[in-house]
Amino acid sequence: MTALHRFLVSALIAASALPAAGMGYGQFDAALDGIASRWQTLPVEVIVDGGTLFGNSNGLALVQQAVDAWNSVNGVPQLMLRPPAQSADDFALANFASWDVDDGKIRVVFDEGGEIFAAVGLDPAGGVLGLGSTTAAISTGVALGGIVLINGHASVSGSGDLLGTIVHEFGHVLGLTHTPVGFGGLAPLPNSKRPTMYPFSTGFDAGTLEPDDAAGIRAIYGH
Ligand SMILES: [Zn+2]
Repeated sequence: MTALHRFLVSALIAASALPAAGMGYGQFDAALDGIASRWQTLPVEVIVDGGTLFGNSNGLALVQQAVDAWNSVNGVPQLMLRPPAQSADDFALANFASWDVDDGKIRVVFDEGGEIFAAVGLDPAGGVLGLGSTTAAISTGVALGGIVLINGHASVSGSGDLLGTIVHEFGHVLGLTHTPVGFGGLAPLPNSKRPTMYPFSTGFDAGTLEPDDAAGIRAIYGH
């Protein structure tokens, strides 16, 4: 019997909606139906796209850096990168439909030309750098699988903050929504101090997490 599950889909905030905001990350509602999504068993295994970028040592180092950033905030490892030798799959539009989205793992996908973004109705040139999505059980919110999708069109054009985007989308898959901390008006923060879960890329994120990000993850996983 197929388990009832929900697939939390991404929405989009136009980058032009905020002044001097840079490129928009993908937005994602982690609390659909009022039930927050969380992983029951940690660490969650991360499978890396074996195609261009993530299939080479530079790309893998970026993903490892993003994994390490999240693993450092809660006292227990939350993510576990599968050894590269086992990451032979090239996730692409051609095999998109065959991915198992509820096998308990997170797939990190580099969408080379933005083909997958286009297939799900987003303009690859429209300013969204990445998407984070989770499949979760309807009744409990327990996460069943996750995808970090990186817009290769934006990244290869040089306009994206690739490491910052990967870290941000991992945050969504772990169950975090966007934060209001750092928005101009109430309590503006310099770019270097804005939380990773700020909804727009500043282009200056070195993959480091801020206190607001750590507080969010501790609220979900309790350390
Ligand atoms: Zn986001």
